[in-house]
Amino acid sequence: MRFDIITIFPGIFGSLFSGGIIKQALERGLIEIHIHDLRNFTLDKHRQVDDRPFGGGRGMVLKPEPIFAAVESIRQAEKTPVYLLSPQGRRFDFRFAEELTQHSQLILICGRYEGVDERVIQFLVSGEISIGDYILTGGEPAAMVVVDAVSRFIPNVVGKSESVRDDSFFEGRLDFPQYTRPRDFRGMKVPEVLFSGDHDKISSWRKRKSLEKTWLLRPDLLENRELSPEEKKALKEIKSERKER
Ligand code: SAM
Repeated sequence: MRFDIITIFPGIFGSLFSGGIIKQALERGLIEIHIHDLRNFTLDKHRQVDDRPFGGGRGMVLKPEPIFAAVESIRQAEKTPVYLLSPQGRRFDFRFAEELTQHSQLILICGRYEGVDERVIQFLVSGEISIGDYILTGGEPAAMVVVDAVSRFIPNVVGKSESVRDDSFFEGRLDFPQYTRPRDFRGMKVPEVLFSGDHDKISSWRKRKSLEKTWLLRPDLLENRELSPEEKKALKEIKSERKER
C-alpha cells in the first residue's frame, strides 16, 4: 500500500519512519510513504500556500490551488481516496483503519493554521479524518497516527498475524494483561497460571481477563456486540466475584 502525505512541514515525518515496524515495512517493500511539500505545487514566485480568510478574522487559511494541484499530480487512480486530517472529520478507530487497507493508495492532506479553504472539503476530498476531540496545531501528527495504524493491518507488517488479532478492539474487547521477567518484582508477582504450561488453561485465563478489563474500562465495547454464551457466563461470574470483594 502506498501512502502520500501532503504537508507544509515535510521534515516532521522523519522520526516515524526511522525505526520499528514502520521502518521494517518500508525496507521490505510492504508499504511506501511519499511526503510531498505543498510549496512544490505553488505557481507564484513566493511559493505561497496560505492567505487571510475572506470576511476577516484571525489566522491564515491554506489556499485551494496548491492542494488541488498536489492531489491531481499524486493521485494514481480516480478512485484513490483522499482524506483531509481535521477535527471535524469521522473519528478514527480500528475499524476505519482496517477499511482504509482496501485501497492501494491513500492520500492524506495535513491542514495548518485555521485550516484549509472549504472548497477542498466540498469538492476534492473523499472525507475528513479526526483522531479525537481536541485541536492539534497541524494535521501531521494525525497523519502519522493514520499511517501507523493502517500499516499494522497490512499482511506481514506485524510479525505474526495473531498479534494483530489479539490486540485490543479486534474482537470487540481489550487485550489481556501481559507480563514478562522478573517473575517476582518487589513482591508484585506474576499470576501462577502463566507458569502452568497448560495452554488451554492459560488461554481461558487470558480470555477471562480480557473480558474483565473490557467490562471495567470500556463497557461500551461489550454493549456494541453480541456476547457468546461462554462470555456471558464468564461475565456473570466476574461481576459476582467483584461484588463479593
Ligand atoms: N480551525 C480549525 C477548527 O476549529 O476546526 C482547527 C485548525 S487546526 C489548528 C489546524 C489543522 O490541524 C487542521 O486543519 C487539521 O489538519 C489538523 N488537526 C487539528 N486537530 C485535529 C484532529 N483532532 N484530528 C485530525 N487533524 C487535526
